[in-house]
Parts: sequence; structure tokens; C-alpha cells
Amino acid sequence: MSLPTYHLITYGCQMNKNDSERLGGLFKAMGFVSARVPEQADLVLINTCSVRQSAEDRVYSVVGNLAQIKKERPGMILGVTGCMPGRDRDGAIRKRIPEVDLYFPTAEMGQLPRWIAELRPELVNSPDLIEDYLKIRPDRHATRQAYVSIQTGCNKFCTYCVVPFARGLEKNRPLSDILEEIRDLAVHGCVEVTLLGQTVNSFRAPDAQTFSKGNPYQDHFAGLLWEINQIPQIKRLHFTAPHPLHMSDEVIEAMTLPVHLHYIHLPVQCGDDDVLRRMNRRYTIADYLDVVGRLKAKIPEIAIGTDIIVGFCGESEAAFERTVELYERVRFDISYTARYSVRSGTAAWRAFKDDVTFEEKKRRWEALQAVQERIALENNQRFVGKTVSVLVDRHEPPKITEEMLAMPGDIRKIIESQPGYGYGNSREMKLVRFRGGTEMVGQIVDVAVTRADTWLLEGNYVA
Ligand code: SF4
Repeated sequence: MSLPTYHLITYGCQMNKNDSERLGGLFKAMGFVSARVPEQADLVLINTCSVRQSAEDRVYSVVGNLAQIKKERPGMILGVTGCMPGRDRDGAIRKRIPEVDLYFPTAEMGQLPRWIAELRPELVNSPDLIEDYLKIRPDRHATRQAYVSIQTGCNKFCTYCVVPFARGLEKNRPLSDILEEIRDLAVHGCVEVTLLGQTVNSFRAPDAQTFSKGNPYQDHFAGLLWEINQIPQIKRLHFTAPHPLHMSDEVIEAMTLPVHLHYIHLPVQCGDDDVLRRMNRRYTIADYLDVVGRLKAKIPEIAIGTDIIVGFCGESEAAFERTVELYERVRFDISYTARYSVRSGTAAWRAFKDDVTFEEKKRRWEALQAVQERIALENNQRFVGKTVSVLVDRHEPPKITEEMLAMPGDIRKIIESQPGYGYGNSREMKLVRFRGGTEMVGQIVDVAVTRADTWLLEGNYVA
């Protein structure tokens, strides 16, 4: 008898990707195998993102296409999970996709075996329930790098954000579960761990008594970083996304421990105090600059990334200029800049007018993009002449053009024998390219940087 099959489609952030790894683990435990295309699957599940309306619109369109496949294969189960069901308090989203059989927020994924058994009993042998979805073991494809969720949900309620509605309030995993997962990853070859949480540094261990006796930190997140530093196989550690409010001195101190990367992604969202207050971000620009100052004082080589929203309700030209000034002052290495998009159900949707025009949001986005690219290029010049440590995660073979194919055989052979390029991130999360063979994938190597572009450092492998 053939095994039941599933096809999983994932949208959104790293958190969603990690949730999909958990869903993969759950399907594996139920005896399902992954189908390459939806047409071959008994169950198709979409893990959705609600961060912008465009992300939700894409899901409506994908569901429409899958509904066509379902017409021809009526037994196929179609499911939607993730942020859309999570935030759909009044059922308005559900009404727009009646073709869907399963519709549940992420935290309820442990019920899947029972629901599938109700729809297609022949697909599931033992419909065991798992109450806490964070206990489900993720099915990961990469072996050297792993994302590890340490919390889900958020208590901050920034006025533009759907996450607290979609994922609920902050819930932290037990320290013992997190460390057990990372130790298990380590014995299976993992060398780099990225800790995930909506405000990852607000972590409070529900089992604080399990911290090691010698752990020097009172701050639970700093303590967690210290514990991971004690796992010898883990060579690189970082986290996303911290909230500026929780960047305690202890957390910054713990970031100087040996395995921590020299990078932080620290969302600021805007450079204007009045806009920050209406966003309910709970810090001022002076507070943010204080964190940056403390980070740079302890880790002078640190690269800093951020998130920025342009065109939030009531953002004047002068307020936007203050964001540009902040950018110039901090000299961010990268920014994920979004144009504000109204999300129904949020406080901003209820209380404020979306009064910056589409064209103006686009102009501000483009202006900030230009600043970002200039500063990234300038920042990267500091690496030229230096050696960076790179975890190689992919290899590109030498490019053989038609002209090369027309060359005499011996010249062609020389070209074909070139090793190609290795790619990976430095400890500052800069993409690095160097000449190297496939055998380097998965290794941590030194590269002497000879050239720096906006988004790429190039150099030579140092044996
Ligand atoms: S901190 Fe704010 S932006 Fe981040 S997930 Fe929580 S509510 Fe959303």
C-alpha cells in the first residue's frame, strides 16, 4: 500500500518556516511522505503570513488554484494554517475560502492527526494529539544551520502589527526543551543556531531552576546564550528579532561570548519619537541610540540590521527625514524597509488614518533604499584587506558559456576543472564569495577579502 502524501506551501518569516519544519515533523510521525507537487498529494496545507495585505491576497489566489485541482481530485484535503486563521476573529477570511477543509491557527497543529482521521480515516493510524505544538520535533533539511524557536506570540501590541492577534500572547519554551533540541542538533552536525522569537530577548524560562549552577547571568535570555555557548559543537550563534526594550547590559555582555556572531537585527521602525509613540514601540530614539552605543562599545565590529516602516499614519515629511538622519547616524548595514499597509483588527486600523499616499510611501521607500545602498557599500569597504570567517552554505560550479564550449578540448578542460565559487555568511552576516570546491560546503573557512560590493564581499580562501 502506498504511503499517504502531503504538500506544504510556506509563506512569511523564519518563524513560519520553522513552524513548517514542525508540521513536516508531524507529518513524518504520522507516516506521511512529502509530495513534490500538490497534484500528487492527499493533503495540501498552506502556512500563511498576514504581515501585509498582499501576502493574504496571494493566499486567496493560491487557494483558488488548488480548489481547481481539488475539483478533479475530490478526496484531496485542503488546509490553511498560520497567521491568517490566527487573526481571523470574525471569520471574514474563512468565508472567502469555503473550499478549504482544515482551517486552524499554528498553535493548534497538534490536533491535525485527529482532524485528518475524521476526514480520511484511512490516512492516519493513530490520531494522537499533541497539546503543545512547540514540543513537536521539526523535520529539518539543512544539517549545519538550524532555526530554533524559543517563544511564540507577543505581548507588545505595536499598533500596526497583527502578530499578537495571529499568534496570541508571548509563550516561552522551557529552557530544558530548547537545550535538548540544540544538543540533538549538535550531535547531528549542526554548527550554527539562530534563536527565533517575536521579541526573542524578552525570553523568560518557565523552568528557571534548570539554568546551570555556574551560569553568571540573571537575565534569562543572557543565561540562555551562555548555556548554548557551553555546547562544544555549536560554533556560531545569533538571534532574531530582539526588542530594544530588552537589550540589557547582560544580554550585550553575553553577545561577546565566543560563538556569538558579530551581527544584530534590531528593529527600530522609525526615527521619529512621535511616530514611535503612535506605533506603541515603547522606546524613544534616545533609548534606541543608547542600546546601539552600548552594543558598539562592547562589540566594535558589530554589524547592525533593522526593520523600518515608511508612511505610517501621520508620518510627516519632517518625521521621515528624522528616520533618514537616524539611518545616517547608526549607519545600518541592512534594513528591511516596508511601506505601511493597513491591517484590519489592529489598533492603528481603529484609531489612525492611513494618510500618507501610496506615491509618497513609494518615494520615501526609494529614498531610504538609496541611503541604505550607499551606506552598505561604504560600510563594507572596512572588510577589504581583512580576513573573515565564513560558514559555506552553497556552491556554484564554474559557468561554461557557449563560447567556451567552442574552444579547443584542452582549454575547455582547464576551464571545466576550475573549482567554481563557495558562498556563505561571515560572522557579520555579510554574504561572501570565494573560489572553492563543493567539498567546502558546510565548513567554516577563512576568506581574505579583496573586494567589497553593496551586498557581496569577494575574496580568497585562506588555507
Ligand atoms: S514587537 Fe511589535 S512588531 Fe514585533 S511582533 Fe510584537 S507587536 Fe508585532
